[in-house]
Amino acid sequence: MQQVTILDKTFEVMISRKQIENRVKEIASQLNGEYKDKNPVFIGVLNGAFLFMADLFRNIETPCEVSFIRVSSYSGTSSTGTMKQVIGLSANLKNRHIILIEDIVDTGETVTFLMKELAQHQPASVKLVTLLFKPAALKKPVTVDYSGFEIEPEFVVGYGLDYDGYGRNLQDIYVLKKS
Ligand code: 5GP
Repeated sequence: MQQVTILDKTFEVMISRKQIENRVKEIASQLNGEYKDKNPVFIGVLNGAFLFMADLFRNIETPCEVSFIRVSSYSGTSSTGTMKQVIGLSANLKNRHIILIEDIVDTGETVTFLMKELAQHQPASVKLVTLLFKPAALKKPVTVDYSGFEIEPEFVVGYGLDYDGYGRNLQDIYVLKKS
């Protein structure tokens, strides 16, 4: 399926499921090396990161824990920049090595907010893994430790990412088609 229509918009394939699978395995292997014997906590940001987290996590071979949080800050095709509450940060994170799993870093507002929230729990370390990264869209100085794919500042859907609630189940990543 090279092209899909979701609601009123048409999207075309940008990153194939095979490319995603290969990259996810590469990142997992790097994390297996870096976090060996560190008992890290993976924290996935819902909803967008749920598929990425699942695929990454099943390739992790070192003992670790997993948890999910939610931040509601986005609707439609552009970031609102409005930060809301983080829900679900309940685990004891003091002195733990946190691996924050994001679907996409766009303006960097969400990650900046989350990093501040996580710091309050006094973890041993926090690193950011994002499936997609739009460096040209950044408005905050964000350190991306692991990025699956760097992309242009265009709207994407699929593999967990939605357009107004739809498209998360697509197995490839699609970009809004230029008309
Ligand atoms: P940021 O705070 O970095 O601007 O945006 C992060 C959040 O905005 C992501 O977690 C995601 O939910 C949403 N987002 C940013 N760009 C896109 C995009 O191209 N497609 C989709 N579906 N969501 C996006």
